Amino acid sequence: MANDLLIRNVRPMGGATVDVLVRDGRIAALGQGLSAPGVPVEEGGGAILAPGLVEAHTHLDKTLLGMGWHPNSAGPRLIDKITNERRLKKELNIDSARQSARQVVLSSSHGSTHILSHVDVDTDVGLSGMRGVLETAARYADVLTLQTVAFPQSGLLIRPGTLELLTEAMAMGADFVGGLDPCAIDRDPKGHVDAVFALAERFGKPVDIHLHEPSTMGAFSMELILDRTRALGMKGKVTVSHAFCLGDPDPALVEPLIEQLVELDVAIMTTGPASRPAPPIARLRKAGVRVCSGNDGIRDTWGPYGNADMLERAMFLGLRNNFRRDEEVEIAFEVCTSGGAAVVGIEGYGLEVGCVADLVLLTGETITDAVVSRHKRPLVVKRGKVVARDGACLVEAP
Ligand SMILES: [Zn+2]
Repeated sequence: MANDLLIRNVRPMGGATVDVLVRDGRIAALGQGLSAPGVPVEEGGGAILAPGLVEAHTHLDKTLLGMGWHPNSAGPRLIDKITNERRLKKELNIDSARQSARQVVLSSSHGSTHILSHVDVDTDVGLSGMRGVLETAARYADVLTLQTVAFPQSGLLIRPGTLELLTEAMAMGADFVGGLDPCAIDRDPKGHVDAVFALAERFGKPVDIHLHEPSTMGAFSMELILDRTRALGMKGKVTVSHAFCLGDPDPALVEPLIEQLVELDVAIMTTGPASRPAPPIARLRKAGVRVCSGNDGIRDTWGPYGNADMLERAMFLGLRNNFRRDEEVEIAFEVCTSGGAAVVGIEGYGLEVGCVADLVLLTGETITDAVVSRHKRPLVVKRGKVVARDGACLVEAP
């Protein structure tokens, strides 16, 4: 069977050494001295076994990976970056199929087995980004599971025609309805949130809204999102990405929001940004909020940083949240693995018998050691098939 595999001598989450037998793409047994005649064998060499890393927020359609170096000269405001990107997209003629494939291959080499990518839908690029990323999702389905968010990057109501395009993107097969800063960008918060949720209701899909708005403005928009979630019975089907307002120092602003996130099971995505207020991961998780993370845009017109490595992202989360104790760094790692799985909705995720064999081997004594050392991943497995080895994906990027 193509999806059978025996991995010897690995330590699930850094625990005791076992062998793992995969049958038909799922974990069939974990134990010492397993034998399976005829099944391909990989030697784990005492590496840590973890479920695949989950990249729960990126922008595959617009990375500039492999396109040479483009000096970044965007202005300081969000709208400057949006305008700069709209101009450069035309100048650089970014091929979303090729570029998303490049990032997928890079992500896989670092051990990600799932990606949720926002994909720009606007009146300039139309649906070309969505077509390209969906093409990559199909072409690389054996390497990595790729889901999409139809994302109105240039604004929704402020740019007539975008809502119709977003509707078409959902009909094409986007997995989530996206949104963006209902006050600061669209300047029609009620209209924006109503439109996004109406689309979600119509297509029966979850919502993932970019909310950069800080402090009271962000809290106001989040209240609107929470109100719609409650009114439409969308408990457990809404994610707020960035949510800088939750990093506000005023507990009177933050605590009532956290209470409602718990009540409505609304998830939070944070990159652990170095330069903005960041949602407090430990506080949110303690309250029972699902938290995931992602690399956001990498090597694009928004910024020069990023390498698509979710283990590095776990380190950034740790640094931003002042995680020093091992059990704290382990929380950052969980956000980049099981946290992501819980937010993007991955069936059969984990290391138990019966789980889908989406696996990564990590070099290190413990999970925390692996996060801070970040060695090349010895092995990455997707549904029982080896897809990357020694830090290199076995499928070449275009
Ligand atoms: Zn984003």
